[in-house]
Amino acid sequence: MLREHSLRANYQAAVWRRRLERCPDIPSPVGSGWCTEDGTLVIDWMGDQLAPQAVLEVLSCQCSRSCKLPSCYCIVNGLKCTDMCRLQDCTNKPEDKNDAEDSDW
Ligand SMILES: [Zn+2]
Ligand SMILES: [Zn+2]
Repeated sequence: MLREHSLRANYQAAVWRRRLERCPDIPSPVGSGWCTEDGTLVIDWMGDQLAPQAVLEVLSCQCSRSCKLPSCYCIVNGLKCTDMCRLQDCTNKPEDKNDAEDSDW
C-alpha cells in the first residue's frame, strides 16, 4: 500500500516537473500505482497483492482423511502441506530437514 502511494506521488511529481517543459513527455501511469481496467485508468490500490482468501486456498487443503490426488489442493498445486491444512498428520507434510543440516563431515 505504501509502495503504491509513493509510486503515485512520484508520478505526480514527474508530471508536474514536465509541465514546465515545452513538449511534455508524460510516461504511462500504468505500473506507477495505476492500472487499466476495461481500458479505464484506475488507481491500483492492491498492487501485486492477492486477496488473503486466495492465498489461503493455495497454501492449504481441507482433506479430512488423507492427502492424495485428485482431492488434495496441496498436492494438485505441487505443494507440501502446511500448518494451515485441516489434516495435520497427512503424508504430504514436508519431511524433517534435520538430517540434511546435521551432516558434519
Ligand atoms: Zn490435503
Ligand atoms: Zn494440505
